[in-house]
Amino acid sequence: KERTLAMIKPDGLLGNYTDDIKKIIIGSGFNIVRELTVQLDEENVTLFYAEHSAKGFFPNLIRYMTSGPVLAMVLEKRNAISDWRALIGPTDAKQAKISHPNSIRAMCGSSSERNCVHGSDSQQSAAREISFFFGDIPPE
Ligand code: ATP
Repeated sequence: KERTLAMIKPDGLLGNYTDDIKKIIIGSGFNIVRELTVQLDEENVTLFYAEHSAKGFFPNLIRYMTSGPVLAMVLEKRNAISDWRALIGPTDAKQAKISHPNSIRAMCGSSSERNCVHGSDSQQSAAREISFFFGDIPPE
């Protein structure tokens, strides 16, 4: 089995999408291994999104990601990383509403920035992001 880091971003939590998203997670065969609601600060977001620190949208990304609490979850199943990415849909939630109307971002996101959920994009980022929120977790 594989683990990935899923996150419900501030717009997802504030919009009360948590229960719907969790239903999709469970219904899709994921096991929720850990979960944590936390208010990120600028330093946390800078670390989490270090790869985007030179991008023009970075100041907006910090404002968005610190605008309220997030819910981080460790999801486990076979092919968890790519299956969760497939469920959430494309980065741009506006585009998702057209091209992937059944995706989670189509349901609760509103733009290329405010896309309501996150998913790790590789085994390497899953490991880094899981330890960012949860430290070391023993297998099974
Ligand atoms: P995430 O890493 O959050 O799952 P992603 O991998 O689909 O999203 P990235 O390209 O890694 O997308 O961008 C990280 C986050 O930065 C996006 O989820 C979004 O919130 C924000 N973002 C990305 N592109 C833009 C943009 N052009 N304008 C504003 N915000 C953006």
